[in-house]
Amino acid sequence: MRRTVLSLLATAALGLSAPALAQGQAAAPAPAPAPAEPARPQLVLAVSIDQLSSDLFAQYREHFTGGFARLLTGAVFPSGFQSHAATETCPGHSTMLTGARPARSGIIANNWFNPSLARADKRVYCSEDLSDPASTSGNPVVSANLLKVPTLGELMKAANPATRNVAVSAKDRAVVMMGGHKIDAGYWWKGSAFTTFKGRELAPAAVRANTAASALLAKGAPALKAPAWCGSRDRAVTVGTGTVGTYRFALPKNAKPDMLRISPRMDGATVDLAIGLVDEMKLGKGGAPDVLSVSLSASDYIGHALGTEGVEMCIQMAELDANLGRLFAALDKRKIDYLVLLTADHGGHDAPERLREQAMPGASRADKALMPAALGAEITRRTLIAAPQGQPLLYGDGPFGDIYVNAAITGPTKTRVINELLNLTRNHPQVAAVFTAAELAATPLPSGNPQDWTIKERLRASFMAERSGDVLVALNRAVTPIPEPVAGAFIATHGSVWDYDRRVPMLFWRKGMTGFEQPNPVETVDIAPTLASVIGLRLDDGAFDGRCLDLDAGAGNSCERAK
Ligand SMILES: [Zn+2]
Repeated sequence: MRRTVLSLLATAALGLSAPALAQGQAAAPAPAPAPAEPARPQLVLAVSIDQLSSDLFAQYREHFTGGFARLLTGAVFPSGFQSHAATETCPGHSTMLTGARPARSGIIANNWFNPSLARADKRVYCSEDLSDPASTSGNPVVSANLLKVPTLGELMKAANPATRNVAVSAKDRAVVMMGGHKIDAGYWWKGSAFTTFKGRELAPAAVRANTAASALLAKGAPALKAPAWCGSRDRAVTVGTGTVGTYRFALPKNAKPDMLRISPRMDGATVDLAIGLVDEMKLGKGGAPDVLSVSLSASDYIGHALGTEGVEMCIQMAELDANLGRLFAALDKRKIDYLVLLTADHGGHDAPERLREQAMPGASRADKALMPAALGAEITRRTLIAAPQGQPLLYGDGPFGDIYVNAAITGPTKTRVINELLNLTRNHPQVAAVFTAAELAATPLPSGNPQDWTIKERLRASFMAERSGDVLVALNRAVTPIPEPVAGAFIATHGSVWDYDRRVPMLFWRKGMTGFEQPNPVETVDIAPTLASVIGLRLDDGAFDGRCLDLDAGAGNSCERAK
């Protein structure tokens, strides 16, 4: 309990009050007066870089000179874990500001299935409003209805209604999962423009962002420069019928909007909109701390379309670093005292074609026989059990993850289908593990070092009985679940139980803080309790699945909240 005056001052600089001072315990000589810094940050800036694996961060951190360079002077956790198995955008974004794993937040995947649902595809999109008849899984009415826990911004608003909770991204699910149910402003990209929630008008800042995007698309833009350090990554690799590895994002006149979306310029547009909202809403200037969530999606779009180890991702890392620098500089210029958290929703992995050339000869693409339609057809061939005319026997989003049996198949017939499904998948050479819903439901929620969890425990952390599949399949390491790649569109992905998809950086920074690096594993569910402590938000024990991380590099502890 005994703490020095210096450590108390460090604690105060991080935003906590100094509870022990009044009790007169500190007997050290009086130090120089503390700088007149406000006790708590006025703005929490939560940044998510979609698909920024710890591997990419490690590969590029020595080259950063912009926003990342600043964050590297703060608290650096290079081994943050999205500890669950469903390493996708929606679950990943849902852990960051709720402190809840998908098993509790209910966000078990980007898409899951409810075979009893009236709609034909039985598919549920994670951030849609199922109660709105206009919503479909492919064209959702965007909402946080399916998120079962509150976000940090919502908890702060509950504590002080003056807090504003704002989120921007290229992806609606990132906005919804970081912002939550009560968002003061939320914008995402749809088609060729930023849009917002049904029934809301675009703010002037969003209108300006859309005007700028239209102008850019009409006018075009030159290729982006590859920094010298991209070096040998600038090399063509054949994937399917095309090549990747040398693209430079030149934007022709009147380009298709997707050429803007799948480029570093998408992050630039998102950052511009965020800065516009800071001005328009005077974020960080009200009486209560505000939350601004900025999820930058370009790294993910580029990773999927072009892979992670070519010149394209190298250019993106340089542009991202610059875009982050621009965002931080804009907040500095407005004299806002802000606390930054940067992390990622999941990691990623390169295309197997390049992995094979670069010392991973075993990398492969998933066998089409593992697709739910193919598995269902094979089960029907073996058992003569079929779904009603025109319906699939099995529902699922790809050659792994959750698989659901058609709702018309019940009782012992369903058991037979599941047993046949277990036989087919467990005996497949690309499959690492297969579990039934009953097996996962009977597994305790994991704890301890996420690096050491079993595959079953990883699956358990994103399992929820009412939403998860009847059977869950995990593929072997370095099996890419895209059987047929399309270069420039979809060649590489994430979503696996392996650490290249689970491990992400977690970086915290505030002006004046003393930095440190902690290489031991932490979790993205630790972020919300950590931020809550720094801003002095008091919550009941058990509000979070994670733990508060002490951001004080010295003997003080930023997790000791004001009493
Ligand atoms: Zn993705």
